[in-house]
Amino acid sequence: MTKFALGIESTAHTFGVGIVNFDGTILSKVNDIYIPKEGGIHPVMVKEQHLNNFRLTIEKALIEAKLTINQISLIAFSQSPGLGPVLKIGALVARLLSQKLHIPLIGVNHCIAHVEIGRLLCDIEDPLTLYVSGGNTIVSAFESGAYQIFGETLDLAIGNMLDSFARDANIPHPGGPKIERLALDASKYIPLPYVVKGMDLSFSGLYTAAKRLLNSKKFNTIYTLSDIAYSLQENSFAMLTEVTERALAHTEKKEVLLTGGVAANKRLQEMIASICQEHNARFEVVPLKYAGDNGAMIAWTGVLRYLSEGSHTIKNTIIKPKERMDNITIPWRN
Ligand code: AMP
Ligand code: MG
Repeated sequence: MTKFALGIESTAHTFGVGIVNFDGTILSKVNDIYIPKEGGIHPVMVKEQHLNNFRLTIEKALIEAKLTINQISLIAFSQSPGLGPVLKIGALVARLLSQKLHIPLIGVNHCIAHVEIGRLLCDIEDPLTLYVSGGNTIVSAFESGAYQIFGETLDLAIGNMLDSFARDANIPHPGGPKIERLALDASKYIPLPYVVKGMDLSFSGLYTAAKRLLNSKKFNTIYTLSDIAYSLQENSFAMLTEVTERALAHTEKKEVLLTGGVAANKRLQEMIASICQEHNARFEVVPLKYAGDNGAMIAWTGVLRYLSEGSHTIKNTIIKPKERMDNITIPWRN
């Protein structure tokens, strides 16, 4: 009999519910996303929205999958990493469903889920992954039993940096896609900080410098918002590309996976594609429907872990807001 897993994503702005069968077919993906009217993501506001909408989101996912809740055999949820108050909502709902339905429960690391849904959908075996989103910037690959981190941001995540700059320029959230569009109309490059430390990245100096350009007398006389958007993208994406290329040379992986919300960006795709070509590596972008946060990736990673080591006890499902993906064993890849 076919078995189905329901996955709950609740690490940040998205309360996502996805349903997959145990063979890796995705039956539904429904997201409810908190969009701040002004300012950044406030955990208390996000938590409120998730609390208000979780039930409807689960119902929509079941309808989309043409299933009833009683046909679900496994509940998976995002246990780490993320905003504490928000993670708690997903954990609470998952525990409740698991106990009410008497079915197994499994906690999942959100970053690993991004990689696993990419491996599934792109039919890719062993990629080096560049995961770029609102909350994360990580270059990782599987080595010695875990998803090792080869490079990461030391401060802002790339998506957060783009969104923050956009907000300073009075562009509504999310700013990333609008910055991409603006950059297409640029006529000049403005030199900005480029900060790679070892294999890690720092975006805060770049962000501050770009923000300062908005308040300069030269703004809208010597250069335009499009020029800043273009220069911001060129520098930050070149930094990401440099670290990814060095990780590729070091790991000698033959596949590169680009994922996370920022993976939608065509200029970033172009830059990563060019290093893949040079290193004879296959390049894949996770289908954009599943590149951003979603419950299907949580459900699928839950299935993988459950099939290799069984379910979690309630005690083992305590949220871990700061857990790193490289601290977690991956039994299904041995
Ligand atoms: P996630 O955190 O994975 O849900 O992705 C959301 C992030 O992706 C936000 O920071 C968006 O601004 C960013 N994003 C989405 N589309 C694009 C794009 N085309 N270019 C750059 N950033 C993008
Ligand atoms: Mg994410």
